[in-house]
Amino acid sequence: MLYKDFQDLKLSALGFGTMRLPLGADGEIDQAQLDAMVDRAMAAGVNYFDTAYPYHNGKSELAIARSLARYPRESWYLADKFPGHQNVRGVTPMQPAEIFEEQLAKCGVDYFDFYLLHNINEHSLYYYGNPDNHYLEYFLEQKGKGRIKHLGFSTHAGPECLKGLLEKIGKHMEFCQIQLNYVDWKLQGAEEKCVLLADYGIPVWVMEPVRGGRLAHFDEATEAKMRALRPDESIPAWAFRWLQTVTRSTMVLSGMSNMAQMEDNIRTFSAEKPLDEKELALLGEIREMLARSIPCTGCRYCCAGCPMELNIPEMLAMANEMAIGSSITTIARYTALGEGKRADACIGCGQCVQVCPQNIEVPTELEKLAEIMAKQKSWEQICAERAAAAAALKAKG
Ligand code: SF4
Ligand code: SF4
Repeated sequence: MLYKDFQDLKLSALGFGTMRLPLGADGEIDQAQLDAMVDRAMAAGVNYFDTAYPYHNGKSELAIARSLARYPRESWYLADKFPGHQNVRGVTPMQPAEIFEEQLAKCGVDYFDFYLLHNINEHSLYYYGNPDNHYLEYFLEQKGKGRIKHLGFSTHAGPECLKGLLEKIGKHMEFCQIQLNYVDWKLQGAEEKCVLLADYGIPVWVMEPVRGGRLAHFDEATEAKMRALRPDESIPAWAFRWLQTVTRSTMVLSGMSNMAQMEDNIRTFSAEKPLDEKELALLGEIREMLARSIPCTGCRYCCAGCPMELNIPEMLAMANEMAIGSSITTIARYTALGEGKRADACIGCGQCVQVCPQNIEVPTELEKLAEIMAKQKSWEQICAERAAAAAALKAKG
């Protein structure tokens, strides 16, 4: 395992992100599988585990804490986050003490090694920056008491907002977690953000290194080009190699959902294998290709507050699929969403836009999807035509 220095600590360069934990057939976190993955991670030298209040609707904290409790407290570092970004306008803002005590209790710890103000962005700044909420003040106080060892923040803010933020709170922040991968280097201004953070001497923690899995699979032709250059490397590993080559990040968090992903990541983080010019150029081509699609990472932050209870990330994925070309399987999945749950049910309230870390104009994208789908043959029509064709074939003998 590769390690990085952070103050007086040696952190594994790979951190275990717990936003997309393994699920059982009942849709709940598969604790046994998670325990096995944590065992494998610990055996390989991973010592950093990252959770957050909203992950898995509050169950991620409990699940990872259960797994880690089987190991001595000093053998792992746990990061958790204050969900200030989930405040809703018009409702009394969250009380930091209430949430923080709840998190400590859920995780069964009396201190967090790392604690972050979660997702400070152009919208949530309204709450984080409001002096009446005393958010920063409260967490600095907890740090003073030793209940937080290192205080930082995560952000999806654009470079301008980040700049203003650093001017205000930069001196208190020990690390910053940003979305960083070879697509967002340009698309989300990650390069500029890294420069800003470096000016403040704040180390970078990487989240979404494979963009919610979007950089883990490509079309056959693209994957063939990648394999020709690096036959022994998996497709997701390219994203980590890019980070090793171009950035000077301290921590790379990977949300692993199964043992195969864990094994692949452990292999990748056993040695640095930087990319050469030709390989970087290929990732540049892929970046161009992906920049034309909707950049949804499937985080589901938008889902809880949707008054129509729409499966927004699923429909945005369908929009991306349809942009490449009409697909029967996409139409089938879209149909299966059911009446009142498809794109045309969106009432344009904008709640999703407020909370989306990728700044996606969801109502506009759903409107476009509804238009595209309205022009397709319905799934029933496709089935009827197929049945008629099969019958005709049978009649012919
Ligand atoms: S704008 Fe549409 S998709 Fe977004 S929260 Fe409102 S109803 Fe749901
Ligand atoms: S639309 Fe935005 S908030 Fe919703 S799942 Fe996609 S990236 Fe996350």
